[in-house]
Amino acid sequence: MVEVRAQRASKPVTVRAAAKINLHLGVGRPREDGFHPLDTVYQAISLHDDVTVSAAAEDALTVVGAGYVDVDGVPTDAANIAMRALAEVACGERHHVRIGKQIPVAGGMAGGSADGAAALLAHDRLHDLRQPDDVLLEQAARLGSDVPFSLVGGTARGRGRGEVVEPIEDPGAWWWVVVPSTVGLSTPAVYRHFDAMFPDAPEQPAEPTELLAALASGEPVRLARALHNDLEEPAIDLRPELGTLIERGQAAGALRGTVSGSGPTCVFLCDGREGAMELVAGLSEEYDVVLPAVGPVAGAHVLA
Ligand code: ATP
Repeated sequence: MVEVRAQRASKPVTVRAAAKINLHLGVGRPREDGFHPLDTVYQAISLHDDVTVSAAAEDALTVVGAGYVDVDGVPTDAANIAMRALAEVACGERHHVRIGKQIPVAGGMAGGSADGAAALLAHDRLHDLRQPDDVLLEQAARLGSDVPFSLVGGTARGRGRGEVVEPIEDPGAWWWVVVPSTVGLSTPAVYRHFDAMFPDAPEQPAEPTELLAALASGEPVRLARALHNDLEEPAIDLRPELGTLIERGQAAGALRGTVSGSGPTCVFLCDGREGAMELVAGLSEEYDVVLPAVGPVAGAHVLA
């Protein structure tokens, strides 16, 4: 098997995988296994990492970040989720992996999950395995709750721990402005703070009924009203400056600002491309990194 794969392995494969935002993030009281039940609507947006995997004599990993991405917190050994993905699926082959990161690290945008999904797909194509989608999705779910969505992309509802993913029809082109933070925020720390702030959280997480209706309407104002994130309050309580940023963005013309997932990245929904560009200009006077983005975009895919 190893020999066959080694012979088949061809030229390096690069896979692009998008950042996610949560349009709805309903969080319930922790289950007995410690995980929080989620009911979430993900959207993949046009901020991405590119992961290149090639056959090599020894495993090796290089991580290169865009100017605003602090890659110091990204492990460059077997702990990196891209290497963990390859360790799960490789049959003795070794790989060199290069991650080009645009997605902020520990930013609540599932950058690590995107890299894991990209590595799984790149490995599949590099060795010409062409496994069916459900096999790749199972491998992804074993790696982490957000990894299956990184494969699927678009707009999708996630349940369970987020790993049960169901695509949602979303013909809209929604314009966002993304403001990363220079200092990451640990996802487990935000969940712990959620538990402390809301010990009586419902067993069943809030359902995204309004959000789904707003998406179908295609109206940004309606979507803005329906955005929902149960982790926003704990994230802002841990980092009050995020509340200030959201207020500034809304005062500068955003339809609505919110924390992305567990934060600290904040995202602002705008009324179209022009509105997003105006907000980029407005917020750039005060914040160093302000990025326009559009969603939904495709899940992990091979670059030609
Ligand atoms: P999520 O939104 O899924 O909770 P996040 O976007 O907040 O995740 P990530 O950027 O995925 O956070 O990183 C979380 C931690 O995972 C990092 O602090 C880092 O230690 C570790 N990590 C492992 N592999 C990677 C990777 N390829 N890219 C980024 N972080 C990684």
